[in-house]
Amino acid sequence: MTLHVHPDIAALSPYVPGKPIEELQRELGLSRVIKLASNENPLGPSPKALAVINECAATLHRYPDGGAFKLRQALAHRWKVTDEQIILGNGSDEILGLLARTFLSPGDEAVMADHTFVIYHMEVMAAHGKAVTVPLKDWRHDVAAMASAITDRTRLVFLCNPNNPTGTMVSAEEVAWLLGRVPDHVVVVFDEAYFEYVRSSEFPDSMAWIKEGRHVIVLRTFSKIYGLAGLRIGYGVTTGEIANLLNRVRPPFNANSIAQRAALAALDDDEHVARSRAVNQAGMEQIANGLRALGLAPINSEANFVYVDVGRDGRYVFDAMLRHGVIVRHIEGRMIRVTIGQAEENRVFLAALAQVLQQGEQG
Ligand SMILES: *Cc1c(COP(=O)(O)O)cnc(C)c1O
Repeated sequence: MTLHVHPDIAALSPYVPGKPIEELQRELGLSRVIKLASNENPLGPSPKALAVINECAATLHRYPDGGAFKLRQALAHRWKVTDEQIILGNGSDEILGLLARTFLSPGDEAVMADHTFVIYHMEVMAAHGKAVTVPLKDWRHDVAAMASAITDRTRLVFLCNPNNPTGTMVSAEEVAWLLGRVPDHVVVVFDEAYFEYVRSSEFPDSMAWIKEGRHVIVLRTFSKIYGLAGLRIGYGVTTGEIANLLNRVRPPFNANSIAQRAALAALDDDEHVARSRAVNQAGMEQIANGLRALGLAPINSEANFVYVDVGRDGRYVFDAMLRHGVIVRHIEGRMIRVTIGQAEENRVFLAALAQVLQQGEQG
């Protein structure tokens, strides 16, 4: 052992992403592979974004605009805040890291659900903080237990809304209750990666809390409904003070020039967003009904994926589904997360799952 590794880093394992389509095609020699593992938009990128990408090509020898002037202005206009309140990230993932590095000293605490986006835990550990995990209640964030977990050492509270991997939502009322109990030294992080898919009228207007002067940051992304996951661009809306602090640790060119240009175009593509929502809603009904027809009980989801107990080892089901050319996500135990696809993809998924579950019974 010659390397001296910080014990917090040694204790981490690398993030395991959804299996890439090409990898499965290579491994199993399959021609058709359907990936419903990473909550990507099955319709593809916003066409408006695709149309402008070539514009950037001729100036790729230049560094991006480190201040991302145009995109930040457009986002500020959209959310009725000032551009000093917008921070961009190489995906909103990166902003989670900036938050941990900015606010956590060794031993400081970050409160999060025990069953949520795994990056929170990773980034808190990597910043030498302490992750305080609070069990979900009926697959939902338990805001009362989260409030009780806050101490003098708490610096961050992560609220994934809708929650990944469960798809469940915390209501405006619950958020108001929670914020009534969060002391001012704590930054509340609303990770709203699936915001544009939400249909419930009880979903909180989390940005209103920023306008109230609360220490809140709302994270959104171009990776999900806008269909630009491969470009890596997300953003945070927060107070000018918090944005200024995060900008001190932000790598200066973290939002690349193609991503900035494409995101700007995608932001105005209301048609693509509306179509994506409609396809998701129809697909959600198709998949939820199909799962129920198989005797399963999918958890109600406000996002573009659904979480379900498949009644047997989820790893077995995941592997068996791969042999049918369908990539889903095994989260833990008997739980599988499946992204809503287009109608034909959903049909193939349901047919494959029916076979896998039937075989599982015989074998
Ligand atoms: C997909 C996702 C993100 C966004 O990731 P990007 O880095 O913007 O691609 C953030 N939070 C959650 C909970 C997600 O599921």
